[in-house]
Amino acid sequence: MTRRSRNITGAADPRSPLELILTDMLRDTVQLPDAACVGRGELFDPMSEGESREDVDERHRTAVRLCWECPAIGPCRDWSIGEPASDGVLAGRLPEFRRPPGRPRSNDVA
Ligand code: SF4
Repeated sequence: MTRRSRNITGAADPRSPLELILTDMLRDTVQLPDAACVGRGELFDPMSEGESREDVDERHRTAVRLCWECPAIGPCRDWSIGEPASDGVLAGRLPEFRRPPGRPRSNDVA
């Protein structure tokens, strides 16, 4: 006998407890089915050990160009706003550490 879960109305839910847990975990995950980065994740990654600055810059420029042509850039940018700073490319933005030197932004924390 298979034990069935109950949904919010109390009706039997045909999904298994594991499906319910996974569904809940993925509820806030953005869906970007047309993302141009699918299968190209290596372009977006942070600098790897032994990689030269020139190589990572070129790789990240290629990633940013993909983002600019990506049909999912709008929802990707919306989602990325709440994400922590990254050393890789995200939503068409280069890593935070590449900001040019100068005055800190007004929202920078001392
Ligand atoms: S905008 Fe860039 S990071 Fe976002 S889904 Fe498109 S290709 Fe991927």
